[in-house]
Amino acid sequence: MAHYFQFITSSQITSIIIQPPEEDAWQQFMLPVDNYTFKSRSRAHWETQIVTPNTWSRVLSLTPNKWKQYWKILSNAKQQHPYRLEELHRVQLGHRRHYPPPPTDGVCHLCLTSIDSTDYHDHLYLHCSISKVVWQKLHISLPQEWITIIANYNLNTTQLLLLNRYSHIIHQLYSLRRLAYKEGNVLDPLTLPLIKNWVSYLSSSL
Ligand SMILES: [Zn+2]
Repeated sequence: MAHYFQFITSSQITSIIIQPPEEDAWQQFMLPVDNYTFKSRSRAHWETQIVTPNTWSRVLSLTPNKWKQYWKILSNAKQQHPYRLEELHRVQLGHRRHYPPPPTDGVCHLCLTSIDSTDYHDHLYLHCSISKVVWQKLHISLPQEWITIIANYNLNTTQLLLLNRYSHIIHQLYSLRRLAYKEGNVLDPLTLPLIKNWVSYLSSSL
């Protein structure tokens, strides 16, 4: 069988971008207003109630103060680069821990190895052999660990943009492969040249 991705068109790709349930409110609420806050929160509210995504805070022992510092650098970067950090923002908020959902057959749709579906998010972004290739091709000079990605306020804008690109590519690739599987296609292994083409193609849309 010919490789599925060799025949998918650009219009097909843009038509199946998966949106989280919160998408309707996203543009309204998540644009930065100033150096400290996003549109949905006044400065006064921000200073008394910092957004602290529960799961990440628990898993990585992140304090409200760390989140506060991180939201500040993200807000600054989003003002410099409108609409180019949205995927990373969603990852930080925890959206991508739940959506899109895990594969139903217990096999990673990217690397085609058996995985624990309760752990698929960690596998997809940190441990998958395909994700590691993407990480390397983007020349991200950080350990591929959540602690370097989530609420890391020491990152500069270039690093934030690279992590956004990485998150975007992984999310899009997984969504495409998941859809192909649901439609009954046999998922052929992703080869290095194919991954390189996808990295180039999906990067160009950011
Ligand atoms: Zn995998």
